[in-house]
Amino acid sequence: MEPNRPGATADRADLHTHTSASDGLLAPAQLVALAAQRGLGAIAITDHDTVDGYLQARELSDLRLRLVPGVELSCAVDGVDVHILGYGFDPLDTELVALLGQRSGQRLDRAAEIVERLQSLGVPVSMERVRAIAGSGTVGRPHIARALVEAGHVSTVGDAFARYLANGRPAYVERPVLTPERAIAALHRAAGVAVLAHPLYSPTYRDFLPALVESGLDGMEVHYPDHNDATRARLGALAERYGLIQTGGTDFHADFGRPGRALGDVTVPVAVIDRMAERAEGRSDA
Ligand code: AMP
Ligand code: ZN
Ligand code: FE
Ligand code: FE
Repeated sequence: MEPNRPGATADRADLHTHTSASDGLLAPAQLVALAAQRGLGAIAITDHDTVDGYLQARELSDLRLRLVPGVELSCAVDGVDVHILGYGFDPLDTELVALLGQRSGQRLDRAAEIVERLQSLGVPVSMERVRAIAGSGTVGRPHIARALVEAGHVSTVGDAFARYLANGRPAYVERPVLTPERAIAALHRAAGVAVLAHPLYSPTYRDFLPALVESGLDGMEVHYPDHNDATRARLGALAERYGLIQTGGTDFHADFGRPGRALGDVTVPVAVIDRMAERAEGRSDA
């Protein structure tokens, strides 16, 4: 197994990071600076439903740090959350940008519904506050969680999820379903690749994986903070069987206190980025 530790690692890439353009705590410029400081060779900014953070980072990225266009799309299969990571696509592709706009809008509607539920559960927060915490970025449950902490209803963000916001908890609200097939197609149309994020978060991944492969899934996130060596070996074998590129990253949000999720704690070789580009290229020739 390839070493997965940080440290002067110009040949290593962290391919799963979030900025303040979605629910990360660092601005794109801060994330890029931290990546350079940690000696990483590349990062992908994979904000939820937006490429704004990537576009900002691209303006100021230092040439030694490779910056890969990325995005994370929340999909569902039979009620199970499935996150699809996109890489290497044209960030200005009209149809993809339209899809991201639609999904971001639905995030706002969903947040408003969650806020209503919290109100009726006796732990009110205001939508104004949630929007202020999210700033100009896409709104997500972490912003609502922070509002709940701020209001003194819970002591931590983790608490907010465990008591109210997680799937199955009383303030959980679904969003209109985006199928992985549609996400994959949108990413392919924009000349990118599609990767199944943190498969273990989707308990039924073994059941739906063949269909995703059939739809053109390009890779699987094998290296992830919650995955031990045995899990990585098992997922690696599965990826090999289905001809999937093995990606990885920390899912960095700068939410200190979640161990193993410091930027660059989980990486893959920079060469994985080239493999993804070749795969996208191969498809457009086909
Ligand atoms: P959303 O995009 O609104 O569905 O929120 C999902 C995001 O919430 C994930 O990307 C994580 O960043 C965060 N999240 C999910 N579960 C937890 C948890 N238990 N504690 C802290 N953050 C969480
Ligand atoms: Zn997130
Ligand atoms: Fe995710
Ligand atoms: Fe993520």
